[in-house]
Amino acid sequence: MRATVMYGAGDVRVENVPDPKIQNSTDAVVRVVRSCVCGSDLWPYGSMPASEEGRRMGHEFLGVVEDVGSDVHGLTSGDLVVAPFVWADNTCDFCREGLQTSCRHGGQWGPNGVDGGQGEAVRVPQAQGTLVKLPVAEDSALLPSLLTLSDVYCTGHHGVVTSRVAPGKSVTVIGDGAVGLCAVLAAKRLGAERIILMGRHTDRTDLGRDFGATDIVPERGEEGVERVRELTGGDGTHAVIEAVGATEAMDTALSIVRHGGVISRLGVAQYTEIPLGFESMMGNITVTGGAAPARAYIEELLPDILDGTVDPGRVFDHTVGFDGVPDGYRAMADRTALKVLIQP
Ligand SMILES: [Zn+2]
Repeated sequence: MRATVMYGAGDVRVENVPDPKIQNSTDAVVRVVRSCVCGSDLWPYGSMPASEEGRRMGHEFLGVVEDVGSDVHGLTSGDLVVAPFVWADNTCDFCREGLQTSCRHGGQWGPNGVDGGQGEAVRVPQAQGTLVKLPVAEDSALLPSLLTLSDVYCTGHHGVVTSRVAPGKSVTVIGDGAVGLCAVLAAKRLGAERIILMGRHTDRTDLGRDFGATDIVPERGEEGVERVRELTGGDGTHAVIEAVGATEAMDTALSIVRHGGVISRLGVAQYTEIPLGFESMMGNITVTGGAAPARAYIEELLPDILDGTVDPGRVFDHTVGFDGVPDGYRAMADRTALKVLIQP
């Protein structure tokens, strides 16, 4: 089968790799129907050292079950399923606490002989715990939105949950990438009264308005901080969702969070230190967030997608086949595409 392999910065290839087969009784094999490129794939795309063996890519996919191991119950060939961006047994103590990203028997897509999602098929370890059945047909128009349950919509929702967004609260989302936009949508869904979106790409912030943003702040750094403070009577917002991962975004978050407020980190952190000194202590600021346990949220978020209440799939603005995957990476890196859908 064909799959996406990254060999170094800027070097993404689609190659023939061995077809996946059941190796353990808890595995399933899924034929991929939709996959996509993640904003987090752009970090290695920008900086990965050259590698001989390469790295299998992709952690967001939905597809059709083709085969299941003898210990996989509740799934059969022909089921349409979505996979969260890590696999997990969904039964260990961490999973029962809703933290499938820390599953004792789980892992990531790509390394250690596990397939990536940007390929024609995937061997899914811990299939019964990992996969969630989707009650639609393979040609449903809802597939792009359902695919966001793998990662971006659940990740945005995680930012909203961890930053304690609730009816009447105010929130600032820093970053107009797919995760930031999904955080706007999730904040609106949970009743946030004021949603400030910080981003400077007009086509993206326009979608942010459709998703529920009440104010757009295109300025960055000190100017951006001033603007949010003006909008909030000098206080900042109850919640701040940092959906970039850069030092500047975190500095902005600390400057615009209201006293008693919460900063949730969703962007893949490219920094190792956060200046949490006396000021943030006096302000009773909480810093939280992290990798979203998407598996914990899928059942909750699924109904609103099925009935059309939300349409997070609008973050996909570019579709490629497998031959177009390298171009898709380039388009996202150049910011000419917001998020690239892969349709085999
Ligand atoms: Zn587990």
